[in-house]
Amino acid sequence: MSYNFPATRTTNPKEKPDQSDLGFGRYFTDHMFIMDYDEGEGWHDGRIVPYGPISLDPASCVLHYSQMMFEGMKAYKSADGHVMLFRPEMNAKRLNRTNERMCIPPMDEELFLEAVKAIVLYEEDWIPTYPGTALYIRPYIISDEISFSVEPSKHYHFYIILTPVGAYYDINRGGLTGSHIYVEDEYVRAAVGGTGFVKCGGNYAGGMRATVNALANGCKEVLWLDAKEKKYVEEVGTSNAFFMINGEVITAPLYGSILPGITRDTTIQLLKSWGITVREERLAIEDVKKASEDGTLDEVWATGTACIISPIGVLRYKGEDIVINGGGVGEVSQKLYDTIYGIQTGAIPDEFGWTVTIK
Ligand SMILES: *Cc1c(COP(=O)(O)O)cnc(C)c1O
Repeated sequence: MSYNFPATRTTNPKEKPDQSDLGFGRYFTDHMFIMDYDEGEGWHDGRIVPYGPISLDPASCVLHYSQMMFEGMKAYKSADGHVMLFRPEMNAKRLNRTNERMCIPPMDEELFLEAVKAIVLYEEDWIPTYPGTALYIRPYIISDEISFSVEPSKHYHFYIILTPVGAYYDINRGGLTGSHIYVEDEYVRAAVGGTGFVKCGGNYAGGMRATVNALANGCKEVLWLDAKEKKYVEEVGTSNAFFMINGEVITAPLYGSILPGITRDTTIQLLKSWGITVREERLAIEDVKKASEDGTLDEVWATGTACIISPIGVLRYKGEDIVINGGGVGEVSQKLYDTIYGIQTGAIPDEFGWTVTIK
């Protein structure tokens, strides 16, 4: 099936920002994608329009009960001018898993992918090429039934907005660094049976209190423990967490409270291809501490689309610091970052068939 999305061009194009100082979500492109859902009609009228405020009835369901979902992905431009997406079919599948959990109607995966391609190509001249940068893509769905009943909406809007983003770690300031992370042992992010395995706004609103505490303790993010026993490591903020102990890598299994990250899956496949053992197993924070004490804690890092790989230098747990790798960046973390970003931008051959060249 081929889709034709009409486009309305802005009369007011913005000036492009300085690529060496983009930040994350600071600048938005000139256009966005919108599509409607109505019961009986399905998803319809996908279109490209100038970027700008949207209008919602104050009684819209999303504003009160947060029936919504989002995705996060990136587009890259290779040195020879090709435009590439990274494993976008994984985002399409995850979107529908989230929709299912949030009682939002499913979207045809091909329709989703065509919409992403259409808006990215329309905004092609916004894709930055400065090292470490990318065009971040934020698709999301909100429910806009006018109703105070706590029940699934019959009307939805789907949007895609785009923001050119900078290197998470500026190469001019030394590249990757080891972050300080606060091990949260009071608040919890997600319990099994809840919504921890999907990308819905409520998960993030509920986590902010802990993040604010982490910042007040001189840390950049939170390492969440499991909700039931507050014993096993789960995720770091909005990223998945990896622990390398004695040459083997451990990450939390996808048992329902953890977000199945695409970078997580990419990391597991790469490590295995390098002959490194990866175990998806529960790991107690006390065992991380023990490994640090007996000198076997090699590296700890987080993975996600925004940062790709974020090395962790210190875990602050119950007032004590677990220092990893002298607080610096490990060899495996650095190699993962270089390899993934290299594949994403076409600088390293893609043996896995992960990149999708759309132009
Ligand atoms: C998005 C997200 C991740 C990372 O997923 P990617 O697909 O790798 O970007 C991890 N944890 C949480 C809670 C997230 O929201």
